[in-house]
Amino acid sequence: MSDSNFIISASHISKWFGDKHVLDDVSLNIKKGEFVTILGPSGCGKTTLLRIIAGFVVPTDGEITINGQVMNNVPPHERPVNTVFQRYALFPHLNVYDNIAFGLKLKGVKEPEIEQRVMKVLKMVGMTDYEWRDVDSLSGGQQQRVAIARAIVNQPQVLLLDEPLSALDHKMRKDMQIELRQMHRDLGITFVYVTHDQEEALTLSDTIVVMNEGLVQQIGTPTDIYNEPVNSFVADFIGESNILNGVMVEDRKVTFLGHEFECVDEGFGNDVPVDVVIRPEDIYIMPRTDKGTFDGKVTSCIFKGVHYEMTVETTDGYEVYVQDYNAFEVGMEVSMIIKPNDIQVMHKERVRNTVPGKMVDDTHVEMLDAEFECLPTEGIEAGMEVNVEFEFGDVDVMDDKKDGTAEGDITFILYKGNHYHITVATPSGDNIYADTQDVWEDRDIVGINILPENIKITKR
Ligand code: ATP
Repeated sequence: MSDSNFIISASHISKWFGDKHVLDDVSLNIKKGEFVTILGPSGCGKTTLLRIIAGFVVPTDGEITINGQVMNNVPPHERPVNTVFQRYALFPHLNVYDNIAFGLKLKGVKEPEIEQRVMKVLKMVGMTDYEWRDVDSLSGGQQQRVAIARAIVNQPQVLLLDEPLSALDHKMRKDMQIELRQMHRDLGITFVYVTHDQEEALTLSDTIVVMNEGLVQQIGTPTDIYNEPVNSFVADFIGESNILNGVMVEDRKVTFLGHEFECVDEGFGNDVPVDVVIRPEDIYIMPRTDKGTFDGKVTSCIFKGVHYEMTVETTDGYEVYVQDYNAFEVGMEVSMIIKPNDIQVMHKERVRNTVPGKMVDDTHVEMLDAEFECLPTEGIEAGMEVNVEFEFGDVDVMDDKKDGTAEGDITFILYKGNHYHITVATPSGDNIYADTQDVWEDRDIVGINILPENIKITKR
């Protein structure tokens, strides 16, 4: 049963393109009139989800309902939605008026009504008096306004927007964000917006859906997502953060940055590895004193308009980001405090790599689309399906993919204060995770090696 409050419900949606699992059991409810943003890095599946709502892509599994009616097999033009694409997709040979009127003419709407509707939407997007202009003569921002006008002239119940501002320059993007918010209020319809820009998501949305690797990571208001990220991915993706390895010693006591801190979290158990997130504005910084919890030396200080953004190298060998309204100059010795309430403790999603494999012989295992050497394991024989485990720190990442036994593509880099935790997508579809001191870039193609003695094999 669908709740009448929800205009769109996606229920257990999966999508495969060939053997690529692009959406993995995605469920999502969107309320009438809400401004919902689907946010995630490139390739996370957000456009595919939007296209499933629009009807351009059919899900492999799961159900999509709009107004309580199952839509899986309903073509796009019969759904009460309209889409604004990343590239304006206007007809270059038609002027502004005819671009907007096009769909209405096709539907057989009469001319006086067309004119009235076109003029009304032109006013809404701030383009009155532009109706006879060639679309070619318009700026990018103006073209995108026309594209929005063309979508809303159909009076859809839902407007789907796929990175509509990504081709605009910074200033124009900021202006259009304000206008989109206003249009959303004026129209009173549901907006579903796709972006990889977290600031845009925080500015525009009532609700943000954070996605990564085909999975919904968190759904919440901008404040919830900023203040209470559920995992290190969300914390990193939404704004600048310090994300650190920690150990929950016992209830309300956690160690990280080489020190013990009082926190407010309970129920993790004793001596459990956790991720700790500290927003830069939650680190209190002062000239060196014995009243701080930990000390360091400022290594960079940049004025950001209202506050200063500083990096501090701690005496225990970590690097932290700190924001403050006062500048602490480079080289200054400082002390810092973090209050219990400002320490976010999160379960680690995983503590080591585990990937499926198959034994080739006693000392070789096939995994990650490659054959790795391993030590013999009692009870494990050729042909067996196994689980292969190895620690994040035991993955050697090589510059040249040819130097690796397997290869992959870096899809996510998380700085953890004194090392990087990187995600490498392999052609087999498995992600592996590595802790490294080296600096990599997103999308670097790398080789992967793991020493035989660091590979642990168990029966699957
Ligand atoms: P971006 O911001 O880069 O568009 P996204 O999060 O919107 O990323 P999608 O466009 O949904 O991601 O794509 C998710 C994955 O699915 C990508 O790896 C993409 O290459 C793949 N993909 C998308 N459409 C197809 C298709 N028609 N056939 C095969 N693979 C596809």
